[in-house]
Amino acid sequence: MTNQTALTKVKFSSWDLDPSILTAISKKGWEYVTQIQAEAIPLARSGRDVVGQARTGSGKTAAFGIPTIESTEANGNLQALIITPTRELAQQVADELQWLQGDKGLGIITVYGGTDVDKQAKKLNDGVEIVVGTPGRIIDMSKRGHLKLQTISTLCLDEADRMLDMGFFPDILWVLEKMENRKQTMLFSATFPEEVLEAANTFITDAEHVMSDDLEVDIPEIDQMHISIGRANKLWALGRILVNMDDDDQMMIFSNTKRMVDLLAQRLSKFRFNAVGLHGDMPQNKRGRIIDSFKDGSEKILICTDVAARGIDVDGVTIVVNYDLPIDVESYVHRIGRTGRMGRKGTAWSFVSSEDKGQLKKIAATWNLNIPESEPPALPKGVDRDPVRKQQDWEEVANNFGMVPVKISIGRDQGATNHTLTNWFSNEAKLDQLAIGEVSIQDDSSEVEIHLDKVEAVVKVMANRVWNGDSVNLEIRR
Ligand code: ADP
Ligand code: MG
Repeated sequence: MTNQTALTKVKFSSWDLDPSILTAISKKGWEYVTQIQAEAIPLARSGRDVVGQARTGSGKTAAFGIPTIESTEANGNLQALIITPTRELAQQVADELQWLQGDKGLGIITVYGGTDVDKQAKKLNDGVEIVVGTPGRIIDMSKRGHLKLQTISTLCLDEADRMLDMGFFPDILWVLEKMENRKQTMLFSATFPEEVLEAANTFITDAEHVMSDDLEVDIPEIDQMHISIGRANKLWALGRILVNMDDDDQMMIFSNTKRMVDLLAQRLSKFRFNAVGLHGDMPQNKRGRIIDSFKDGSEKILICTDVAARGIDVDGVTIVVNYDLPIDVESYVHRIGRTGRMGRKGTAWSFVSSEDKGQLKKIAATWNLNIPESEPPALPKGVDRDPVRKQQDWEEVANNFGMVPVKISIGRDQGATNHTLTNWFSNEAKLDQLAIGEVSIQDDSSEVEIHLDKVEAVVKVMANRVWNGDSVNLEIRR
């Protein structure tokens, strides 16, 4: 059920919308418009250009979709183009427009890579009114003469800040140049960095901006926590989160590399978790199958790269895990925004290694967020063993020089000096002097820094040694 707080008191029926749209909307069970819809739809219907910013999961698709459908006629001419950063999002937006138009009879097709070029060309040549696609294939189809950018009057960029960043901006400029008859332009996203708004001003003038004051990004009510954990034990912590999942939970696990997505999928299946991976190097038909099975709920756990960070709307997603902390700060907002949609509740866990602390601070400061530290959830009742065993993680206890402080139960009172203790370690454990860092002697104990590559072996060996007739106790300081 949707939370009423996500909706305004304005009813769709209070607008004189195209009857086919109104019928479709009421069939779907929608009654009230969301905040962004309340503000952006009337502006867009009046023909204005709109730059719309609103939180993740607040109904931006319909905010540009409804006016686009309304202003498009079923006459066989291509009139509107919607560009998204990923194929999965293009498909989702096209699906939403398809049901929103009801029986209006517009041809709405997707144009993205990894699909049959000839089939796509044929569909375009047969005459369609709205194209939803990704930049690469749109340009390709235009160059081949199947997609006539010249006739299009409406352009929407979904996830507009992504479409206008360095990666996509040249493609978008290419498309813009060919759209000689562009009359209306709409840009939508949850995040709009200042420089993106400046870039937008180069090709739209006089747009109405529907956004929060001072670009403050509004984040849905999602419980956000971070777990301080090194690489070696991320899988253990993930295991804890996974064993705590309920039957009606769905989870997205984000990693920064395609390789890690594959690896994680493999590892999780070894630990008997049913999870599927999704990234941009997979064949398109497989990508399609996987996102469909996640959307229909038959798959509960999706491991993915940022290919699924933006726009993907699966209302069952209750938990997001940043297995790797995202590299750019926008990505954090979009990733966690896969949960908590339309006022629903959500939980977001971020795994933060000692190396990532600075990035976490930057994310929290940029969006004015509190992301408190937490232990991983405890094992649920009735489960007495971790699905993944915890390991000793030397990297996490080492300092910046890779040194791990080892506390030893020998000090001045036992006759230890800096020199004798260093020698004793290097002789007994056959250690290179470079593997020993600072040594500090106290009365009845000392601390010796050992390089993380050696510390495991040293602790093992030295625990059985005797110092001047006394047995020795070694301990890693955390
Ligand atoms: P955004 O693009 O802002 O992240 P979406 O357009 O994906 O959000 O919409 C989020 C969810 O809310 C979708 O499942 C969508 O169908 C639904 N939705 C949008 N507008 C309404 C509304 N007025 N009433 C009920 N549900 C809505
Ligand atoms: Mg969206």
